[in-house]
Amino acid sequence: EPGLYIVAGPIGNLGDLTPRAAEILRRADVIAVEDTRVSARLLRHAGSDRPMLPYHDHSADHVRQRLVDRMASESVALLSDAGTPLISDPGYKLVRDARAAGRKITTLPGPSAAISALTLSGLPTDRFLFMGFLPSKAKARGDALDEVAALRATLVFYESGPRLADSLSAMVAHLGDRDASVSREISKAFEETATGPLTALFARYADAPPKGEIVVIVGPPGEAPPPSAEDADAALLEAMARLP
Ligand code: SAM
Repeated sequence: EPGLYIVAGPIGNLGDLTPRAAEILRRADVIAVEDTRVSARLLRHAGSDRPMLPYHDHSADHVRQRLVDRMASESVALLSDAGTPLISDPGYKLVRDARAAGRKITTLPGPSAAISALTLSGLPTDRFLFMGFLPSKAKARGDALDEVAALRATLVFYESGPRLADSLSAMVAHLGDRDASVSREISKAFEETATGPLTALFARYADAPPKGEIVVIVGPPGEAPPPSAEDADAALLEAMARLP
């Protein structure tokens, strides 16, 4: 069927490609990818011989327009180098324009490093904010952290080994010494999750930048002190006094 198929791929372990995703990759008329060499490996694994076309959100407008035109009569799959497209990856503008043009759009759900790391962290998952990659310049990074410091939410950051220690120390300075986790190489041979206060994680990685791909999860700020028993009683009495 013609339209846009958003296809999540593995974040490391090829076995995590879903059967449905593999089938779309074998059938699509064209597959929009970030890097043809990276995706060629996945397509081989899926048994697909479909043509690839490089796509980024900063691709020229006519490249995107051409894809949106093709979706009217052809099936276009969107695939990232890793995980779910649009999540710190290209695709937002393609979906936006496909919607505006009234194309059929569907998604083939699958792994994302953000959600996987969140589930590994042992930190609250009821409310979280995806922060993507922090800016690399110190001032912009501090501003981004200040902006969210007061939120009662768990924060999710994408990171790389060489930047990890700098980011952890900025988090201590701007968010306080919260409980956190560092997950790397999820679903791969050297998967590892370290947990503890940000200061301890900083101490662990400061002189030994870890290899591979990393997600940092930072827990919410400490709870406000619960209302005292007297306050609660007063509030209950007041509410009861207002009953008809
Ligand atoms: N679209 C992807 C997703 O859904 O997770 C994310 C793409 S983003 C360009 C790449 C970043 O995701 C890495 O720098 C790392 O922070 C994180 N990441 C990807 N694969 C990972 C893995 N196997 N383990 C830990 N983090 C990973």
